[in-house]
Amino acid sequence: MEMNLYINGKSTRTNQVFDVINPYSKEIIDTVPDAGEEEAELAVEAASDAFRDWKTTTAYERAGFLWRWHELINHHKQELAELMTKEQGKPLKEALGEIEYANSFIAWYAEEGKRVYGETIPASKPDKRILVQKQPIGVMAAITPWNFPAAMITRKVGPALAAGCTVLIKPAEQTPLTAIRLVELAHEAGAPNGIINIVTGDAATISNVWLSDSRVRKLSFTGSTEVGKHLMKKSADTMKRISLELGGQAPFIVLEDADLDKAVKGAIASKFRNAGQTCICSNRFYVHESILDSFTEKLKDTVAQLKVGDGLDSETDIGPLIDKDGFEKVQKHIQDAINNGAELVTGGTGSSENGYFIDPTVLVNTNEGMLCMQEETFGPVLPVSSFTDEKEAIKRANDSSFGLAGYLYTENISKALRLAEELEYGIVGLNDGAPSTAQAPFGGFKESGLGREGGHFGIEEYLETKYISIGL
Ligand code: NAD
Repeated sequence: MEMNLYINGKSTRTNQVFDVINPYSKEIIDTVPDAGEEEAELAVEAASDAFRDWKTTTAYERAGFLWRWHELINHHKQELAELMTKEQGKPLKEALGEIEYANSFIAWYAEEGKRVYGETIPASKPDKRILVQKQPIGVMAAITPWNFPAAMITRKVGPALAAGCTVLIKPAEQTPLTAIRLVELAHEAGAPNGIINIVTGDAATISNVWLSDSRVRKLSFTGSTEVGKHLMKKSADTMKRISLELGGQAPFIVLEDADLDKAVKGAIASKFRNAGQTCICSNRFYVHESILDSFTEKLKDTVAQLKVGDGLDSETDIGPLIDKDGFEKVQKHIQDAINNGAELVTGGTGSSENGYFIDPTVLVNTNEGMLCMQEETFGPVLPVSSFTDEKEAIKRANDSSFGLAGYLYTENISKALRLAEELEYGIVGLNDGAPSTAQAPFGGFKESGLGREGGHFGIEEYLETKYISIGL
């Protein structure tokens, strides 16, 4: 299959290409264009021209296109999921889940675009009227990570197109194939030329062109906090609107009255999905001292059953890590914890012969001095620490520069709500290890980012507010 750039409704190739590697077999699965400034500029030109017409279409016309795209994605979901597993490594069942999740944003925003309401405001003079309108912001640049190759795109492109914006996409260099295929399906669904463009290649070169061009009015970035801060500074000169979905370091608190089966199920779902490479992944566990042993025992039994291997094998629960850097970071976190007194309950080993694998790992007696309790591990490592009273647990949970997701397990509803309100996180999973859904606002406090994706909040990120003052 030839995977190309897509600019102004046309599929194009460059002389230079780069390889896409299967993280399980380490084999080259395909090559994609290594585009540079010229292609990045052409894409801006196309999106900017297309915006003139796209913004004047009705929300119903835009919904019509989004629904056709949704239908095609649904029709091709098995093929898309296999492609994703090959380039990203996640188990096929998770890849299928991601395609469905990604597609749910297209469906949601196809409808939400019809509910972009304005307002009329009572004027203070009898011969005046005040009208408030919402208008699409313009060309949007989406820069996305490798861990969710489809969903991180549709969470941005769905609301942007529904709002009447046009789109530039720069997918992660590790996972461009799923992204290109999604855009090909948008073309098949009848996307007007230029409303959606995809450019693969050097991230810094492409983003420099997009961020310095004043026709690009919006940046929506998902990725690391470090790169997010850099792009935020680069957006300042042309005063772009920005949405940043950045890193996390989620605490997972289990109170003494928690339902332990539910807590273990939630821990597995939040920790080991995508081999622990998710931004809302639980990173550090605080378990009440009275239930520490029973929780750890149950966890150990369940974790030991998880099967590590090729994502295309239907038995696999945990695939390879994305690359050598990720593998070495996770190993360093495990070793650092053990060197500093943590006890290994299960796992702890890794192999890099055939893909970069880490066995699902549980550590106890961990503390805040360890790397795994401070940094985003991005791997299948579950460090457990005990606490004595809930105030202490909340204080330790909040002691982080990140603020994306936090988890809390208790059967006491009053306590649950009170403590959930105290957690300084944009998303709280209350007895819920998988809180993401298209209709809810996803995003972080503190250095986990700015803005929200999902629900009616998500479309606001692509709208300007205009006030028209009318003299009668
Ligand atoms: P990354 O920041 O390295 O890369 C993300 C994107 O930015 C990629 O497309 C990459 O090519 C591009 N990029 C890298 N350097 C750049 C530069 N100098 N200029 C312009 N673009 C640049 O992140 P990653 O390793 O791909 O993804 C993992 C990170 O993403 C984790 O920190 C994770 O928590 C975060 N993430 C956050 C969310 C969320 O919704 N908050 C979701 C998924 C992932």
